[in-house]
Amino acid sequence: MAFQAPKGVSEYVPPRSALFEEAREAFATSARRACYGAVETAVFEDTALFVRGVGESSDVVSKEMYSFADRGGREITLRPEFTAGVLRSLLEHNLHKGALPVKVWTSGPAFRYERPQAGRYRQFYQFDLEAIGTEDPAVDAETIAVAWDAYQSLGLRQYTLLLNSLGDKTCRPVYREALQKFLRALDLDEETRQRIEINPLRVLDDKRPDVRAQLANAPVMTDYLCAECKAHYDTVRALLDDLGIPFTDAPRLVRGLDYYTRTTYEFDHALLGAQSGIGGGGRYDGLSEDIGGPPLPGIGFAVGLDRIVLAMEAERAAAGTETTPVACQVFGVPLGAEAHADVLTLMTNLRRAGVNADMAFGARGLKGALRAADRSGAAFAVLIGAEERRAGTVSIKDLKTGDQQDVAAAQATDWLIERLGTQ
Ligand code: AMP
Repeated sequence: MAFQAPKGVSEYVPPRSALFEEAREAFATSARRACYGAVETAVFEDTALFVRGVGESSDVVSKEMYSFADRGGREITLRPEFTAGVLRSLLEHNLHKGALPVKVWTSGPAFRYERPQAGRYRQFYQFDLEAIGTEDPAVDAETIAVAWDAYQSLGLRQYTLLLNSLGDKTCRPVYREALQKFLRALDLDEETRQRIEINPLRVLDDKRPDVRAQLANAPVMTDYLCAECKAHYDTVRALLDDLGIPFTDAPRLVRGLDYYTRTTYEFDHALLGAQSGIGGGGRYDGLSEDIGGPPLPGIGFAVGLDRIVLAMEAERAAAGTETTPVACQVFGVPLGAEAHADVLTLMTNLRRAGVNADMAFGARGLKGALRAADRSGAAFAVLIGAEERRAGTVSIKDLKTGDQQDVAAAQATDWLIERLGTQ
C-alpha cells in the first residue's frame, strides 16, 4: 500500500488547485491595493508564544496544538494561527519603531489537532492580514473592507458579516463577572461549569440546543461597553455603512482565541453547513504586551482558504458557472523526433512573450497529441513536422473551429499573440 497523507491534511492538486490559487490571489490583490506589505514568518514557534499569546484557556492551546520537543530539547509548536507569530516577527524586526501602522499580509498552512470533517482539517490554509500600531477605528473598517472586496472579487455573494465588540480591559472584566453570575445559576455539566470560571465568554459559543436555550437571556457585552469602546464600535459601524458593507450586529459573537478586544468579526457562508466560518478577525490591543512587547494596539483577520474554495465551488455549482481554469493558451505538437527542438523553441519564445504554452512530449502519434492539445484547454495547436520544417512554416489549428492554416515559422509568435489578444 502506497503512503497516504496523515489524517486531516488538506491538499490541492490540479485542476482544483487553480481555485485555491485564485482565492489566495484575490486576497493578496485586495491587501496590496490597501498597501499592505508581504511577510513570510516562522511556521513553527516557541510553544510559549502561543500559550501566552493565544491563551491557555483557549481550545486551540489546551487541546489542539502540534507541540513537540526538537532535537535540541526546545519546546516547539507548529503555528495554530498566524497573529501571534506575525506580531512576534514585526517586534523582532523592530518595525513598530518606524512609521505606524505597520500593515502586512501573509498566507500558508496552519495546524490544529481537530476532529477532521468537511471544511475542518488538521493542516489547513489561511490568508492573514494584520495592521499594528493604531487604535483608529478606520483601520478596523479597512481590514473588513479588504476581506469583503476579496470575497466579492471571487464572485462570492452568499455570506454575511457578523460584528461585535468585546470591550477592553476597563469594561470586559465587569461584563465577565456579570456573565459568570448569570451562568453559575444555570443547569450545566461539570466541564461547562469549569469553563465558566476560566473562560466564560466561550460558553456563549456552545452549540448544544439545551445550553443555547438557557443562554437566551444571558447578558451581552455590548450592554456593558465603556464610553470609549462604545464610541469606537459606533464609529466602526458608521464607517461600514459609509463603505456600503452590510453587517449584522452579533452580540454573542465570541472567537476561539483569547486575545481579542473591541471589534471582532466573522464572515459566515450560507452554503457550507456546520463549518460555515470563512474568515474572522478583530482587535488585539493587549497581545503585544502579553508576548513581552511594548503596548501596541493591533487588528487583523485570518480567512480559511480551504473553506473559501468550498464556498466558490458551492456558489458556482448553484449558479451553473463552473469554469475550467485556462492554464494553457497554445499547445505545440511535434510530428517526429526532429521537430521537438523547433517546437520547444517556439513554445519558449511564446512563454517569454507572456503566453501560456505547453507541448506534447515523448513519441506521441498525431491523434494522441491532438487529444492532449484539446485537454489542455489551449485555443491553438501548433503542428510542426518534416514538411513544415522543409517549408519554413508551422501549421496552426484553431481548436475551437477546427480551422487549420500554415504560417511562416518566423511569424508564428506574432501571429499567435495577435490572435490570442483578440479572442
Ligand atoms: P481562526 O484562526 O480560528 O479565527 O479561524 C479563521 C478562519 O480559518 C476560520 O474562519 C476558518 O475559515 C479557518 N479555519 C480555522 N480552523 C480551521 C480548520 N481546522 N480547518 C479549516 N479551516 C479552518
